Amino acid sequence: MSEKLHLTGFQANELADFVQTIGEPKYRAKQIFKGLHARRLLDFNEMTDLPKAFREKLIDTATATTLKVESRYVSIDGTRRFLMKTHDNFPVETVFIPTENRDTICFSSQSGCPLKCDFCLTAKLGLLRNLTAGEIVEQIIIVLNDVYGTGVETPHGTNLVAMGAGEPFLNFENLIKALEIMSDAEGLFIVPNRVTVSTAGIVPKIYEFARLEKRPNLAISLSAPSDELRDELMPINKRWNIGELFQAAKEYEKTLRRGERFTFEYVLLGGVNDSAEQACALANLLGEYDLQRVKINLIPHNSAEPLEYRPPDTEQVERFKKILESKGVSAYIRRPRGRDIYAACGQLAAMKG
Ligand code: SF4
Repeated sequence: MSEKLHLTGFQANELADFVQTIGEPKYRAKQIFKGLHARRLLDFNEMTDLPKAFREKLIDTATATTLKVESRYVSIDGTRRFLMKTHDNFPVETVFIPTENRDTICFSSQSGCPLKCDFCLTAKLGLLRNLTAGEIVEQIIIVLNDVYGTGVETPHGTNLVAMGAGEPFLNFENLIKALEIMSDAEGLFIVPNRVTVSTAGIVPKIYEFARLEKRPNLAISLSAPSDELRDELMPINKRWNIGELFQAAKEYEKTLRRGERFTFEYVLLGGVNDSAEQACALANLLGEYDLQRVKINLIPHNSAEPLEYRPPDTEQVERFKKILESKGVSAYIRRPRGRDIYAACGQLAAMKG
């Protein structure tokens, strides 16, 4: 890579400092910020409101883009998966999921992932490295430009989910910085309540997240109602067990504002965690910790070689949901998207096909 500064990951005030160091007036920073984030231009030459000499100076010292799209896969359901590479050749995957009234972009916070969730293909990559704030923001710009055209206004709002590769809370600072940049009204203007961050249970960061003033929504990936099973499926449980996780969730719940809820994600694995007893145990667990402002997203597992798990059949999924509901728990079944192009949950492993 270039030693060049990646301005896409700069906040407005950092850009102001930068333009001053290269001897330009402060207002240029605003123009650059708008060019990058409102007009979604990833080439300084296209920022024709900047004088040519200034553009040349920018190109000498900085860059707007460091990611390269290697492949792009389009599912029969309209989902698009982007396989990108960082300047130092690490994979980054981003998924665009269209629905009738809104779009969702599922982005990655890390290249690979250090956690070893047994049902997840990304885990097989291990951690390659944390992504920078600029690399996180750039994923969103690349996807929006691909779908709608460079700088073209999107027809409806964009929701973001940090559920691609990686554990977002292990790259906390860069993640929060990227989300701040994207929430700026002068730029992409994707506000925190349109964003959901999903953690496998990095407990100290749940407390830290709870203290943030402008924070996105939280989802906690649970996938087992007992420590014994969760230790096996999500080894992070050996570091912070269900008791510690639920205490943190309770503290987080206390900080929710009116009308807000948070989510537990539960990947359903046929014959492993989908029994009636396990549904009851899950509901009881919520009761034990008095968690009330919570919903459960049930995600039938997405099969992917070489993982040996399979999704439960549809009736079993329905039964699990009904049991939760009968105990007063809100539960939703998440329809898998982009399975045919390895874009669905737990399938991101830089697959070329
Ligand atoms: S499920 Fe998420 S946290 Fe677990 S290994 Fe996969 S990417 Fe990492």
